[in-house]
Amino acid sequence: MQIQSIEAIPVAASFRSTFRFGTTDRTTSPNVVVIIRTHDGAVGYGEACPVPAFTSETQESIVELVEQRVAPLFVGRNPEHRLPLLHDLDSVLKCAPFTNAAVDTALLDLVGRTLDVPVHTLLGGAFRGRTEVHGSVGWEEDSRKMVDVAVEQAQTYCWLKLYAGRGDIDADLDRLQAVRDAVGPDVKLFVDVNGMWSPSDLTRALHRVHDIGLAMLEQPLAPAAAAFQRELVGALRIDIAADEAVRTVTDAAAVSADRSATVLNVGHSKLGGPTAALQAAQIAHANGVGVMVGSVIEMGIATAMGLHLAAALPRLSYPSYLMGPLKYRQQITEQQVEVVDGCVAVPAGPGIGFTVDERELRRLDARTRP
Ligand SMILES: [Mg+2]
Repeated sequence: MQIQSIEAIPVAASFRSTFRFGTTDRTTSPNVVVIIRTHDGAVGYGEACPVPAFTSETQESIVELVEQRVAPLFVGRNPEHRLPLLHDLDSVLKCAPFTNAAVDTALLDLVGRTLDVPVHTLLGGAFRGRTEVHGSVGWEEDSRKMVDVAVEQAQTYCWLKLYAGRGDIDADLDRLQAVRDAVGPDVKLFVDVNGMWSPSDLTRALHRVHDIGLAMLEQPLAPAAAAFQRELVGALRIDIAADEAVRTVTDAAAVSADRSATVLNVGHSKLGGPTAALQAAQIAHANGVGVMVGSVIEMGIATAMGLHLAAALPRLSYPSYLMGPLKYRQQITEQQVEVVDGCVAVPAGPGIGFTVDERELRRLDARTRP
């Protein structure tokens, strides 16, 4: 089996409503679908979903990297030798995790389809057939808007992820309290601060975090403030998850050893692919640190990949962030993510288990749209 071609299609994708988190207001998403084909007709799909807060990659740069650097390296090679391919990819892709993730996913998908096994089998096998997911309530200045979204999502999810970190800390905490008051004590809440609180903000928030009943804080402080975060991990008596602080497998090793978080967010897009995410999770596990499967709110291909990754991990400390396609106006896969009893089924078919709607994908090609 030999790789014949690698194609990158920029997708014109948009969200159903503006999603605010960290310093970002997202209304569109510059995703790129990577398609690897072999001479004998096998095909695999991957998806890049670059986020400026994590990387300098853009939709245009990803297309160029795939065409100019990945294709010349991969054409003629055997896609079944994924690890040697990824090893060589390191020499031509520098600091391009989202491009890397799409290529890794496409290789896994192609080989899975060829061998007629799901991707989670290639990762070592599934610990579960479905994974619990959480909803997500973007930041809004007006707490009533956050309350409305939270109340609606609480009908679907047992866990909600809220966002904080913009503006005044007390106003932030008031918004979180308003959501708690509206959804009641039974809905489990955690908050992603995207590293935007200062150490003094976090110190000030400590007692209210307990009063509001937050189960976990994700990246409350910037990665540079890891020493403060480590001290506060003990004081908080709740979990602290590291996300922005874990961009590479090396970071996962450092944060695990450093004990500045009790849980690592191992989203495969930001980590440079499912192979790296699995390594990061194994390192966390070996160090007694928990993991959760995050995302950057991707479309169907990357989300299906995340479901396989979550299935292949023995323990998940928190529900997974794998309902991304529900936030999009467009869909590129025939199967859709469906949340039942707060869970999403791990796709059972070969490869990623979702069929890409190539006709719709071509229709959404950003290069042919006004
Ligand atoms: Mg996060």
